[in-house]
Amino acid sequence: MAIKLPEFTLVVLNSFVDVDKVMKFVNSSFLDIGYEIEYSVEYDDVPEEAYNESRDQYEANKIINYLKEKYNGFKVIGLTDLDIYIDLYAVNYIFGVAEEYGKYALVSCFRLISDDYDSPMSVIRSAKEVNHEIGHLFGLDHCSNEKCVMSFSSSVLEIDEKDVDFCDECKERLKQNLKHVLDNKI
Ligand SMILES: [Zn+2]
Ligand SMILES: [Zn+2]
Repeated sequence: MAIKLPEFTLVVLNSFVDVDKVMKFVNSSFLDIGYEIEYSVEYDDVPEEAYNESRDQYEANKIINYLKEKYNGFKVIGLTDLDIYIDLYAVNYIFGVAEEYGKYALVSCFRLISDDYDSPMSVIRSAKEVNHEIGHLFGLDHCSNEKCVMSFSSSVLEIDEKDVDFCDECKERLKQNLKHVLDNKI
């Protein structure tokens, strides 16, 4: 029997992604190590103040702050189809962001959608990025194994090359971290 994790809150912010389909993939990774993710879904809009007109993009940290003000829960994951960036990083965009051992994460499907929102490609890419950010929330770092979902991706091509699953090493670490989190109720 899988151990049920406390309920996650998935906040759909201007996104058409099929959350249940995405979470099916995510959950199969977690079931594999003996845990099950339960979640509720909220629908909301990205706050206007997150928009940066000169970049025509949205500042990820402002969206995270908005989530912090409005939502609480074991883990809160925002999903958006808008293009996001972080000022601190010298990159043009990011696929997602999460606080290590934190509570809040955000994933942008802006570059992940292929054909339509329901296409297997769109769903699996989104699942990889959600899994990756959840990994960070449970204290995982980036992994040097290119196939591992915790490897860092700077392009969609790199996302396509990695698996939706954690590598064996990350799985072990994730198991230990989950046990730690549940034992200490953090
Ligand atoms: Zn990462
Ligand atoms: Zn790994």
